[in-house]
Order: sequence, then C-alpha cells, then structure tokens
Amino acid sequence: MLAAVVVVVFSVSPSPVSSVPHISERPAAEKAQPHSTGSARICDTANFRVESHSLRCDARTVADRCESLRKHLQLKWLGAESSETWSARCIVVVHARRETYQAAIGRGGEQTFGSSIVKFQGDRPSDRRIDLLVDRAGTLSALGHELTHMVIADAFPGSQPPAWANEGAAVLADSVAKQQLHKRDLDQSFRSRTFFHCAELMQMADYPSADRVPAFYGQSASLASFLVTIGGSEKFVPFLKQASDHGYDHALQESYGIRGMAELQHRWNGHHSATNAWPRLAAAEPRF
Ligand SMILES: [Zn+2]
Repeated sequence: MLAAVVVVVFSVSPSPVSSVPHISERPAAEKAQPHSTGSARICDTANFRVESHSLRCDARTVADRCESLRKHLQLKWLGAESSETWSARCIVVVHARRETYQAAIGRGGEQTFGSSIVKFQGDRPSDRRIDLLVDRAGTLSALGHELTHMVIADAFPGSQPPAWANEGAAVLADSVAKQQLHKRDLDQSFRSRTFFHCAELMQMADYPSADRVPAFYGQSASLASFLVTIGGSEKFVPFLKQASDHGYDHALQESYGIRGMAELQHRWNGHHSATNAWPRLAAAEPRF
C-alpha cells in the first residue's frame, strides 16, 4: 500500500509592514557554470531544476547560487553539508510578473516574493518546489528564506517543524534591511499589544490571524536569533527535536542551560531590548 502523501506548505515569505529597500546582488548573467547543464531559461544541477521566466535572471546563475546556498544552509542548520543529493530535485520557478507568481502560489501572492512547498511520501520528500518573484531591482530577495525552509524540512521528515522556528530561521537569511523592518514590526507589536509571550509563540500549532502576522514574524526571528546567539546555529534543530520529544522546558535546560519558559521569557526580553542585537547578527551572514 502506498504511504500517505503529506503535503507541507511553508508560509510564503511576507514583506514586513514597511516597504523593503532593494539590495543589489550579483548581476544575473555572470559566468559559465561548471556543474550545471542547461540554458538561460532552464538549468539542471544535482539538486535543482531552475525554470526562469525572467530575462533578468539567468537560470544557470540562479541554479549555481541555489547549490551554494544549500551547502551553506545545511552546514549552518544541520551541522554538516550532506553528501547525498536530494532524491526529489527541487524545482525553482522564477517569475517575472506578479500575475504569474500569484497564479502559481495562490493565497499570499499579492504581497510576497517567495513561496515553497514540500510533499512527503512516507518520510521521504517526493516533491520540492520554490516559486520566486523577481523584485524591482532584478534580484531574488526571497531565495535564502525559502531555501532555509527546504533545508530544515530535511530534519523533520514527514512532519512540520514548529512554525515559529521555521520562519524565525528563514528570516535570518533575509537581507539585513528586511530583518530590520521585521524588528520594527516587532517593536510596533509591543505598542499595539499584539505581541506573543514566548510560551504562546513556541507552542502555536499554526500561523496566527492576519493582524498578528507582523508580530509573529518579528518575534519568531528575534527568538531564533537569541537562541543562535547563545548556542550557535548547530544547536537549534536538535533543540527543536528535543522539545518535540520532551517538551520545551526540558529542551531549554538541556540545550541552553535555561531553566524553563519563564527564564527564557526574561532573557529574551533583555535580548530584544539590547540595541541592534539582532541586525548585528544578521550582518555577519554571507551574501549570495
Ligand atoms: Zn517563510
């Protein structure tokens, strides 16, 4: 009997409430790619098939960037680059126009620049897909965010990582400017009292209502940033697994020496209040 198909849809990558300045990245047409085969329109590498519908994005360049980012994110979040290729090659579709992007991803496509989905057959991913919309500067600003979801999905076969952790880690791959706007949304949530207590955020089974989405993304990223600051990125996924098995209080003590949710709340409050603590961490990320 065939195993049930589990569809894991990761939230689209929303823009913060404020508009995002554009960050210049490498030009699209750059150099021949030694490990890829294909054209400016379609390119295959070991782990990706890139389909570019934008004249501003060469599929070979995007595919090469995907492979580099995958290695970097595996090392960062899973502790080591995987020697195995993905059994289901990840389809990356680059859209030139919002209309086609929105038609491809459906709800959430009005204001976002990236979306990703993984389908599992049993505990093995059977389909991976990322849709990206080229921004006005001709860049794929959501690529790192969506690929973070893909890499973290490998650590949770057939299930979903906690929403706060999945989005928090992914936001840390966004540009510094975008992260600063998420932080601004978080600051605003304190004024509007739409913020979450840490326990509430971490135990949410799903995404919040629309009015709390800005707080959700800002606070998830801040909390992920805090835990990465004190324990390093390689402890983050094992911490989540331990929490799934034994609860957050136990996992916080074992992974970070934090005595439960109350102490986490206290220490995170201090982290959030520290001037520019979160953007400084993000600035250390390599750019692709
Ligand atoms: Zn996301």
